[in-house]
Amino acid sequence: MAVLLIAEDDEDIARVLVRVFKRAGLTVLRASDGQAALEMILLERPDAVLTDLGMPRMDGWALIEAVRGHPEVQDTPMAILSGHLHPGDPRAETAKVCAILLKPCPNDRLLATMTGLIEAGPHGHDSTQVSCYSDMPVSV
Ligand SMILES: [Zn+2]
Repeated sequence: MAVLLIAEDDEDIARVLVRVFKRAGLTVLRASDGQAALEMILLERPDAVLTDLGMPRMDGWALIEAVRGHPEVQDTPMAILSGHLHPGDPRAETAKVCAILLKPCPNDRLLATMTGLIEAGPHGHDSTQVSCYSDMPVSV
């Protein structure tokens, strides 16, 4: 069964996200900050990661950098889910992620994005690109 890790500090949002992905048949791990997420990614090797940006201890940007800089997990598909990202944010343009979703994001779009990334499997992010897949929903 595919494993998805969700990094989200808001309990209410996390609960909804976990329910949505579990209902779709995924095994869902949840971390409440970036540091915990990084430790879980190294330990559990999830098939994909969905991360918030604003989190205590380590934010989503730092988590993405840490994963991309770690030889054992650097190819893990990652997507951002944020409510505080503005169009044109330069960090979004160079972030080594597969998709950027803005809250509130419809459940079917969340599911389509993450199951698509899980099916795509591990892949490199060497060049600077907004999205790995032009047909993936990237709304920044
Ligand atoms: Zn990717």
